[in-house]
Amino acid sequence: MIHYTVNFEQQNAHLFEIRLNLNFAVNHGQRFYLPNWIPGSYMIRDFSRNITSLCANSKGEPVALEKTDKSSWQLLQDVECLEINYQVYAWDLSVRSAHLDSEHAFFNGTSLFLGIDGYEAEDHTVILNASSVARENQWMVATAMPRLNVDAQGFGKYRSGCYEELIDHPFEVGNLTELNFEVAGIEHQMVFCEAPDRVDWERIRSDVQKICAVQVEFFGDQQPPFERYVFMTFVQKKGFGGLEHRASTALHCSFGDLPQKGENTDKISPEYRGFLSLCCHEYFHSWNVKRIKPARFIPMNLSKEINTELLWFFEGITSYYDELLLARSGVIAPDEYLDLLAQTVTKVMRSRGRFKQSVAESSFDAWTKFYKQDENAVNSLVSYYTKGALVALCLDFEIRRHSEGRQSLDDLMRIVWRQFGKTGKGLGETQVKQIVKEMLGTSLSDFFAKALYSTEELPLQSVFDGLGVSYQLLPQYLQSEKGGFVSAQKQRKTLSFLGLSHSADPLGAKVTSVVEGSCAAEAGLSQGDIIIALDNVRVVSSELDEYIGKIPPMTKVQISFFRRERLFHRNCQLSESEANTCYLSLKEEVATENLLHWLQPDKEVRKVS
Ligand code: ZN
Repeated sequence: MIHYTVNFEQQNAHLFEIRLNLNFAVNHGQRFYLPNWIPGSYMIRDFSRNITSLCANSKGEPVALEKTDKSSWQLLQDVECLEINYQVYAWDLSVRSAHLDSEHAFFNGTSLFLGIDGYEAEDHTVILNASSVARENQWMVATAMPRLNVDAQGFGKYRSGCYEELIDHPFEVGNLTELNFEVAGIEHQMVFCEAPDRVDWERIRSDVQKICAVQVEFFGDQQPPFERYVFMTFVQKKGFGGLEHRASTALHCSFGDLPQKGENTDKISPEYRGFLSLCCHEYFHSWNVKRIKPARFIPMNLSKEINTELLWFFEGITSYYDELLLARSGVIAPDEYLDLLAQTVTKVMRSRGRFKQSVAESSFDAWTKFYKQDENAVNSLVSYYTKGALVALCLDFEIRRHSEGRQSLDDLMRIVWRQFGKTGKGLGETQVKQIVKEMLGTSLSDFFAKALYSTEELPLQSVFDGLGVSYQLLPQYLQSEKGGFVSAQKQRKTLSFLGLSHSADPLGAKVTSVVEGSCAAEAGLSQGDIIIALDNVRVVSSELDEYIGKIPPMTKVQISFFRRERLFHRNCQLSESEANTCYLSLKEEVATENLLHWLQPDKEVRKVS
């Protein structure tokens, strides 16, 4: 039996203290290691750099451990039993690592639990001890790790099967606000750490319950594939993100994302919609990526990068459904769904990198490109989340069209779930095409070649035509403009385009990125430059877009800016703004039957044109 004890008394020093006990004989050469990355977040993070001290003993006698590489140690003698004591510095306020202070304790097993080479399949137990602060303040423990023997607050002994399971159950410990509900007879818990006052908890509970219920139904089983599920959310002034686990998710959100008591519940704010979509996304991952996995992730080697072209499937399809299922569960209206979809289209259309990288390439290079974005990302890469979601939309439409409305992407996902999720068999790099062929009698080769492996534009126009949705791409006016649903088509004249994004700076507008081939690029502007004047008139960030919008396209302008504290003046000719802002509306003459069927598949099957 492999046994870990976790203490977090040293909260102000942000140090977790771990004791690892092996109550069996261990041989000379035995290797111990910490993962270099955490599943779901495709970047090498070298968690072992946070181990600040480590020593071993056997029955109280010191035992030598030698460090063999950046994240491994080996034992230098035979022992009858072994104890390793180590400290982990925890000051990363993210969902990916560990964070400890006077207010809470959060950790992922990838940051805290040393793996024992060759013993990964054994049972692992964890004792979590309360610190004195935690005892005095009645802190509560939230985790989906199965409990063996815990007190009312949740401190005590937990049990995991293999090492992969052990590190897939994060813990949140603190003064938590707790919501409980059941879905298909399974206990679901939501906890919020550092939650603000006056939140409409009942509304969140009810909405998230509906979202979970729709997903359990979606995959076609009586029950979800876990015995309990925990949403753990850390709330802060500004924050957003999540990481999926097999029976829980760790989330970050902003104060303003949560609905307030007394708010009109007929309306939903874009921020709360974003929070619900995040919950929906991570819950969908319980099936898609936690259980249906790329074959290359089996077994999961956490010491180095694993490249797969399939992240469009695991993140793109999940991103597609994280919004569509909000509409299906009724927590947002169809027009609000179209609003979200239009914004996804805008995000893709604003990225010039879509002409450089296919979604398959974006997936493969996630480690070094998507996860390491710099100022040139807008020109060099495409997101497998947003473009992946649009690939999913187009694939859904193609399946409906080829099956005359009898099948959809939902059916594909259920087949993949049965064949690859329930069986634990990994999904091969090009296997989706074969499954589609079995479903439809055609493998949609042309579609996949273009949508996944080329940089050609997706056939969005025909998808929206088929759905009775009017699709418009308009010139971008303000950089804050996201596109969305409109009740009627919009008109807009051609606008001038400078070709950069910027943020406020005390001196003017600080350039954050420059679009390749644009007026700004021609003038040699780059990230970090501070624009202070156009044609010798002072501009600040908040008025720059409007100022440019009033100048006719093709006009020559002089841009004055600081770089490395030196003043430069450059001339360039404004070009026409690209049509890259998506607006969707409903065509009046169409009864939108197709759209309704797409949003509410339980209704009678209708033909997709
Ligand atoms: Zn995801």
